[in-house]
Amino acid sequence: MIEKREFYINGAWVSPAAPRDLDVINPSNEEVCAVISLGDQADTDAAVAAAKAAFPTWAEVPKAERLALTQKLLEVYNKRADDLAEAMSIEMGAPIDLARTQQVGAGSWHIENFINAFKDFEFDRLLNDHSPNDRILMEPIGVCAMITPWNWPMNQVALKCIPAMAVGCTTILKPSEVSPLSSIVFSEIVHEAGFPAGVYNMVNGDGVGVGSQLTTHKDVDMVSFTGSTRAGIAISKAAADSLKRVSLELGGKGANIIFADADEKAVKRGVLHVMNNSGQSCNAPTRMFVERSIYDQSVAQATEIAAKVSVGPASDSGRHIGPVVNETQFDKIQGLIQTGIDEGAKLIAGGTGRPDGLNRGYYVKPTIFADVTSDMTIYKEEIFGPVLSITPFDSEDDVVEMANDSVYGLTNYVQTQDGAKRNRVARKLRSGMVEMNGTSRAAGSPFGGYKQSGNGREGGVWGLEEFLEIKAVSGWAAE
Ligand code: NAD
Repeated sequence: MIEKREFYINGAWVSPAAPRDLDVINPSNEEVCAVISLGDQADTDAAVAAAKAAFPTWAEVPKAERLALTQKLLEVYNKRADDLAEAMSIEMGAPIDLARTQQVGAGSWHIENFINAFKDFEFDRLLNDHSPNDRILMEPIGVCAMITPWNWPMNQVALKCIPAMAVGCTTILKPSEVSPLSSIVFSEIVHEAGFPAGVYNMVNGDGVGVGSQLTTHKDVDMVSFTGSTRAGIAISKAAADSLKRVSLELGGKGANIIFADADEKAVKRGVLHVMNNSGQSCNAPTRMFVERSIYDQSVAQATEIAAKVSVGPASDSGRHIGPVVNETQFDKIQGLIQTGIDEGAKLIAGGTGRPDGLNRGYYVKPTIFADVTSDMTIYKEEIFGPVLSITPFDSEDDVVEMANDSVYGLTNYVQTQDGAKRNRVARKLRSGMVEMNGTSRAAGSPFGGYKQSGNGREGGVWGLEEFLEIKAVSGWAAE
């Protein structure tokens, strides 16, 4: 069993001011796999003080030096890939092969993309060619608190900590208390890469404790948060008193529009995307809209595909899906599946209860509902489990309206071989991202949402700008 109660503050592992043990539960078997400590105000204050003290010097470090440290971090991250995969597999139930490829891979992909964006980024530029005395300086915002969720742990940590440190901010990471182990490994990686003391700090804790302490702290300049819309609202309110900058990446209820002329793999791709990571992805295409002329055949196809999605422990290798993260999520998902049944949606795969042969662990049956209507709870609420809703549509205008009929606006998906149609639909969708015909976002793309999916943009150049202030200087002397 792993015991790691210390926090990483000012370049060293330090004991909590007042230890408060928290068991980390392995969702594959419901057993305690680690013990950490939750921090309290004194730990938060120490981490913020270290970040504040390190900021003036770090902000002045030349770009080339910060780049070299980020490149070193990537090297160490890749060296520790197995440790990261193992940690995520036991803390949040990602099957070990998925943990190695997608979970660890998401982090290294973002680090590589930030390195590329950072190399060409101009922190000091002319306003335009006609204003030789007007200069735009992009400067680090200061001390940044990073609050991350459990579903894609290294994806989120990399999207926040790497760009912030690269542009000259100092950071305090508070990972999800549900999945703290990979962030402990990440802190070891930052240490080995050789970042100066205080530039990066990590304190474990929960939302009401360290989370709230960070969002209300007078010496924190910015909060970057990924997680539920509920917590995003609470954090925005908490940060309002000191007018901190708040960047939010929240939930989603992605529409996947499948026109009659979609490619033959469109339904399969949509179902498998929802099931991936046991449905615990904010950008999952959980509302599938299918043009009526191919509706019945698509529903039949979706049933067949769901039946082939196997479920099992995270430690097994293979392409199965693992458990969901914890008992709370398991109960919430079971409740929503029951609500779908009660409200009259047609259950065509899965349902309530654990899959056959799995009596312990938070395993959910790959579940699909057809004939889902816009008044149903499962159409509106983010379920965050392996649960898909399918709804027929009759026209392009109707389906755009249906897709946009959501409080969320993170990623929507379009499947059609008619290029003009899909471009037209992409323009009309109210979401931060639109992915079409199975083409995923290229390196350097911004990730973020409209409406209640948040206001931030992470990744690439936009992800660097998140952590920068813009200073306009006039009367600049010719150099
Ligand atoms: P959560 O909101 O409960 O917790 C996320 C983090 O916030 C944790 O570290 C938690 O300790 C902290 N927290 C909770 N309440 C807080 C408060 N009042 N003040 C400060 N910190 C607080 O979410 P979760 O259950 O860990 O993650 C699942 C949710 O995250 C889903 O809704 C999902 O859609 C969303 N998500 C969004 C994205 C995105 O990029 N848009 C990515 C991943 C997950």
